[in-house]
Amino acid sequence: MTVRTRFAPSPTGFLHLGGARTALFSWAYARHCGGDFILRIEDTDLERSTPEAVQAILDGMRWLGLQHDEGPFYQMQRMDRYREIIHQMLAEGTAYYCYCLPEELEAMRERQRLAGENPRYDGTWRPEPGKVLPPIPEGRSPVVRFKNPLDGAVSWDDSVKGLITIANRELDDLIIARQDGTPTYNFCVVVDDRDMRITHVIRGDDHVNNTPRQINILTALRAPIPQYAHVPMILGDDGEKLSKRHGAVSVMAYPEQGYLPEALLNYLARLGWGHGDDEIFSMPQFCEWFDFAHLSRSAAQFNPDKLKWLNNHYIRQADDTRLADMIRPRLLQMGARFEGAPALPEVVALLKERANTTHELADAALLFYVQPEPDTVLLAKHLTDASRPALTAFAVACRQVDWNRSAISDAIKAVLAQQGVKMPQLAMPLRLILTGQPHTPSIDAVVTLLGRETVLARLNSYAAMPSSGV
Ligand code: GLU
Repeated sequence: MTVRTRFAPSPTGFLHLGGARTALFSWAYARHCGGDFILRIEDTDLERSTPEAVQAILDGMRWLGLQHDEGPFYQMQRMDRYREIIHQMLAEGTAYYCYCLPEELEAMRERQRLAGENPRYDGTWRPEPGKVLPPIPEGRSPVVRFKNPLDGAVSWDDSVKGLITIANRELDDLIIARQDGTPTYNFCVVVDDRDMRITHVIRGDDHVNNTPRQINILTALRAPIPQYAHVPMILGDDGEKLSKRHGAVSVMAYPEQGYLPEALLNYLARLGWGHGDDEIFSMPQFCEWFDFAHLSRSAAQFNPDKLKWLNNHYIRQADDTRLADMIRPRLLQMGARFEGAPALPEVVALLKERANTTHELADAALLFYVQPEPDTVLLAKHLTDASRPALTAFAVACRQVDWNRSAISDAIKAVLAQQGVKMPQLAMPLRLILTGQPHTPSIDAVVTLLGRETVLARLNSYAAMPSSGV
């Protein structure tokens, strides 16, 4: 048997973290088993589905790299198929026409409520051997109902929740086609899972209630029942359902905020699944490890700090040229000028250690690409009578030194020894003059990257500035 999993989002908004995790687990399980992963867009809710939401799902999946093997299939393009199955079920007697009006159903429920019963369809139009059905009201279009078994129970061994059993008397005769003939949600899911030969359904546990109905319809269609795994929800760090106030819930907000897809994937993989104490792993590794046995039964809590920590890890691992390409647009937006400035990948290599997001990386890199404008008061404070000769001596050294980091570092040490000053007395004004910033990465690295010409030009432009006299 080839394992076939699917991700079946409804395109009613952006791809959110919960959906992305469901997609990730479904994808990983297919990969783990050498099976197929199918993408299906459940777009039958015409009022809530939008083309933008479809695009957001496709974009999110592409950004995460969750490649599907088949699809995307669109339910709206499968209407004829659903109608065909509805007619087949009507012919076989596993479904029937019901002519009750919505107001009659409402009155029925009201009566049941008053009598202290659970509201449910009373079976008026349900055919039974020997039963005489009411005369068909003229000019009225019927809905189609599924003839749910009256007795017994439906059970399944959920891969996350264990054995779940629901008595059939708890389940209504579900409407599978509306008056206008359009099929309803649960029915489309069933037909698709059957036609697409889905073997494992991994989805959020908000769908547990649908499962017994879907199993009964699958059984009526003599279709195999997939293995179900209902994954618990993702909660915010305060234990409430994950929402906007816990940070971004849309997957595509993460590239916008400077996250790498591998960080979000690794983070989502650990959200409700575990492999011992392993926190950091690649997607090939995850696909190899992923199983149902280690899915958590309780809700997972979203922790933005941990995601940030993982992002820093993956930024440190990432190729410098890739990161440079990612941050270049932002740098340009901030007014960066690249001509005559250090190569961006080299600046990235120097700075990425400390960056939690690529935005932080871009912000830190900016100092190499703009004309420095040091705070004059601060600079005057650091341009002391002791530091000024040291700066001059350093400028002299810069003219001759071999331009590499270790030679420049030696030159700085030699200036300090020769002038009898401490590192901050040279490094602080140097930082301000060269970058405009009081805090920079190691000064020898900054000097090396800026290049001889720029360093000398900047030092020169401050040579005439009066010192603070301290
Ligand atoms: N379309 C459903 C949703 O977006 C998922 C249905 C399913 O996985 O069976 O919640």
